[in-house]
Amino acid sequence: MKTPVPDYLQHVLAACDQNHKGALADYIPELAQADPNKLALALSTVDGTIYSTGDDEVEFTIQSMSKPFAYALAIRHHGLDVVLKKVGVEPSGEAFNQIALDKNTNLPKNPMINSGAITTHALLPHQDGISRAEKLRQFLSELAGRELSFDDAVYASEVKTAFRNMSIGYMLRTVGALDEEPEQIVHGYIQQCAIKVTVKDLAKMTSVLANGGVQAETGKRILSRAVVRQVLSVMMTCGMYDAAGDWLSTVGIPAKSGVAGGIMGVLPGQVGIAVFSPKLDEHGNSVRGVEIFERLSKDMGLHLMEGTPSAQTIVQRRYTCGVDNQVVVYELRGVLQFTESEMLLRILQNEAVEPTQIVLDLTNISLIHDVGERMLFEGVDRLIADGHDVVVIDSEQILQQGRSHAGHDVVRHEELEQYLQHFA
Ligand code: GLU
Repeated sequence: MKTPVPDYLQHVLAACDQNHKGALADYIPELAQADPNKLALALSTVDGTIYSTGDDEVEFTIQSMSKPFAYALAIRHHGLDVVLKKVGVEPSGEAFNQIALDKNTNLPKNPMINSGAITTHALLPHQDGISRAEKLRQFLSELAGRELSFDDAVYASEVKTAFRNMSIGYMLRTVGALDEEPEQIVHGYIQQCAIKVTVKDLAKMTSVLANGGVQAETGKRILSRAVVRQVLSVMMTCGMYDAAGDWLSTVGIPAKSGVAGGIMGVLPGQVGIAVFSPKLDEHGNSVRGVEIFERLSKDMGLHLMEGTPSAQTIVQRRYTCGVDNQVVVYELRGVLQFTESEMLLRILQNEAVEPTQIVLDLTNISLIHDVGERMLFEGVDRLIADGHDVVVIDSEQILQQGRSHAGHDVVRHEELEQYLQHFA
């Protein structure tokens, strides 16, 4: 059998192909040269599978879609508190290149508009000979799983006409948001926007965000959950320029667009999506890109406010074994967050208070949230206090603290058989 997902994505592209509305961004002369007919779509799952269709090999500049990643890198480097002292998290409701600061704080309102993004650029790590933009390029290359490069022509073209961004830079310098010469920072920011990507690269990059900061292919944690949560929250409220409210109600996927015609979206725990089509609407968002997102959200039920499934049954099976049936095994399945943990603890509370061997098998748990892990071990402690002997099977090494759970028996699956043999 061939999965129908690629056919479905092709179908969505074909349906949007007839939409010729919008105009190319022309305030950056080089972008006005883009082929307006290009159209591409890619979707990634949290396990790293990529589906893509259309002009999925065509490179275009990342532009403002670099902003969430620069924000993530700045937070990873300095910590959130430091970054929040420089850039706020309030939607501005104004155009992306508005020359204004928050009236109360005198800071840029958020990192998704240019004033906030230029300030964030200044917070990127750098060292002698390696610029901030280069550091970001390296970071994005790691996320995309290939070496990305700069589009020098787009960079040069934007630098020549960057009067507005330079004004923003001088405004930021005046209020002390920038400690260095604005020209260098603004040029660096423009170079960050000129990194070339395809929709497939973007889909890979977003799949790391959808997967809570872990790159599925390498198993490497690139960003902490807390950083990902912060970035996605800001994308949700501020990512789509002054159309953010409209986007939240119709599409409901945290997203960021760029003036070269890309839009990327992240549905936590589910999918990353990237589209490319250069003609833009009055807000600066890709016209066909918005239409594709609207369709995908509707057809696939991806709206964040409806996407959260109600708690699943967490105990797949409970069985007893051993000579006198003195071992009780709980096979758990699904995702262990607060609601499921509460459900599990309620079930465990029915265990009779008499010494038994209890095995909690996490082999089929696909994701365990911090709170789920804490509640699970709180339950284990209480079972032990009731006189039970408890073993947790973590064959997929899903527990963040692994065997370091003080005083608890956490074993691998191979060891389960061995463990159970004691009782045979
Ligand atoms: N480099 C562009 C600018 O600063 C990015 C804008 C965008 O993609 O929205 O004007």
